[in-house]
Amino acid sequence: MVDSCGECDHCRNGEEYCLKANVPTYAGVDKYGEPAQGGYSTHIVVTENFVVRIPDTIGLDAAAPLLCAGITTYSPLNHWGVGPGSKVAVVGMGGLGHMAVQIAHAMGAEVTVLSHTLKKKADGLQLGADHYYATSDPETYGKLAGSMIGGIRETQEMLDFCAKHHIAPMIEVISADQIDEAYERVLASDVKYRFVIDVSTM
Ligand SMILES: [Zn+2]
Repeated sequence: MVDSCGECDHCRNGEEYCLKANVPTYAGVDKYGEPAQGGYSTHIVVTENFVVRIPDTIGLDAAAPLLCAGITTYSPLNHWGVGPGSKVAVVGMGGLGHMAVQIAHAMGAEVTVLSHTLKKKADGLQLGADHYYATSDPETYGKLAGSMIGGIRETQEMLDFCAKHHIAPMIEVISADQIDEAYERVLASDVKYRFVIDVSTM
């Protein structure tokens, strides 16, 4: 998101899911009636309350997925106070799942991955999972907390947390002319675990 009213209860609580004037990053319409061009923009003008500081130790290419997959998984883990002694089950080892494993592990939780197959088990264990099961196996499902990304303040907190714990998404940087090929690979589940488009090639 790139703007909100700044005055309603949601906005004042640092959760900018503003009911009055939320402007989503993709295809939102701002207060001047102009469409938001999303992450494919080469330049952006944005109110300072919607700017986060990227820690020096996180590369811009790795930071991009953190602003989506990172905060989406950090937010519920943070909300439920995950820490040492917590047991966290992550369903699916994809773009979101591979971040949830790293963040929950860094928070001190015992992490279990429930995936379709054991194909990504080695990655899961390397990223910090304690257990890894195929969903065809009998297993108890943990309760999951959902979220539509997170607020700006919590996004900054997540970036600082990831920098401190050396957490980064596994990414593959592609140029603009590889987008079609990347899309086909996403459909075929052949991505580990996020494609990042280098906008300087657009
Ligand atoms: Zn608002």
